[in-house]
Amino acid sequence: MTAILVVNSGSSSFKYQLIDMDTETELASGLVERIGEPIGHSRHTAGTSKGGRTERDQPIMDHTAGFAVMIEAFAEHGPKLSETNLIAVGHRVVQGGNRFFEPTEITHLVELNIEDLSEIAPLHNPANVQGIRAARASFPNVPHVAVFDTAFHQTLPPAAYTYAIDRDIATRYRVRKYGFHGTSHKFVSEAAAAYLDRPLAEVKTIVLHLGNGASVCAVDGGESIDTSMGMTPLQGLAMGTRSGDIDPAVIFHLRRRAGMTTAELDDLLNRRGGMLALAGNGDMRDVEDAAVAGDPVAQAALDVYFHRVKGYVGNYYAQLGTVDVIVFTAGVGENSPIVRAGALAGLEGMGIEIDPVRNEAKSRTPRVISTDNSRVTVLVIPTNEELEIARQTLGTIKRTHPSV
Ligand code: ADP
Repeated sequence: MTAILVVNSGSSSFKYQLIDMDTETELASGLVERIGEPIGHSRHTAGTSKGGRTERDQPIMDHTAGFAVMIEAFAEHGPKLSETNLIAVGHRVVQGGNRFFEPTEITHLVELNIEDLSEIAPLHNPANVQGIRAARASFPNVPHVAVFDTAFHQTLPPAAYTYAIDRDIATRYRVRKYGFHGTSHKFVSEAAAAYLDRPLAEVKTIVLHLGNGASVCAVDGGESIDTSMGMTPLQGLAMGTRSGDIDPAVIFHLRRRAGMTTAELDDLLNRRGGMLALAGNGDMRDVEDAAVAGDPVAQAALDVYFHRVKGYVGNYYAQLGTVDVIVFTAGVGENSPIVRAGALAGLEGMGIEIDPVRNEAKSRTPRVISTDNSRVTVLVIPTNEELEIARQTLGTIKRTHPSV
């Protein structure tokens, strides 16, 4: 067996998953959270069933202490790390800027570069670096690889990534569209071609990654050519708590007329926007339940959500010239027939026809939800960002450590 540990680190928490690379199956997963608070919390699941789950509360001073808690959980509840032949650790990193276009083995210099990119990703990169430092200290004898959320979008043409503002200012402050969720868009677009048994190079796909954060990606022959998130993950769709697209002049208006500060505006758009703003709840299940029960406010919020998704489908249909496949993924995309039907309603003229019975079927595996007559095939494909990070980590260390 060879195993890879995948780590996704936030500022006060990290998630992990141990993956057997021979079978590409999950050996264990877990979460360490409330790091730095008086009482921290950890959860470890050996295997994939709830029966293997254990939880613990204890103070967890910093990320390094968090990794010690994780290592203890592996020792106590399995699988024993010493018996799994751990060959590498893969780290999710949100922003690779225009420096990291592919997964990269982490050295001290790479760490500093990821840290430097905090300037354009202040909410994410510092936390990713904290996790990387602690993980490297905890697992000093295996290579660590950074897998960037932005990397899949390196193929965006300038026409798609350029904002129409002063070029010198844009260059100096690194202002451009980078795009995010790249690991998921790559995994899902490749899985779609494989599921349909078609060569990736010939398929034009629109991926709808609809989770708490949500983005759309136009994928032409395996390459991202446009995506809805921008310099930061705020642009694009209306999300759980993010506003998505907005006229930037609204910000000037609110500064002048409401006297709002930058921090208040950041909060308004990034944490108090989206479904939370419109329906009073950022969790799509609750918004749907309220709409189904007849709440017109919740229905109006859903209508905004659908309108935005549909707009991007039309935009990317045009950018691609045509579309073969539309794929729904992530928490909302995989689980919500209401959103899938609402977002693509009325697009029969574009060759997009959802089958209501197939759309309602619950499943954890890839499936078709369009009718047999639909020119565009509509799929639901569960994303697996951890597996994609593990695959890219393995690919990277095979290049840098040929003996692996
Ligand atoms: P994250 O961006 O945090 O990774 P996820 O991809 O896990 O998010 O998606 C979380 C979202 O998925 C939440 O808004 C949740 O309400 C939604 N969701 C999960 N299950 C369902 C469901 N059955 N119906 C509608 N929405 C769902």
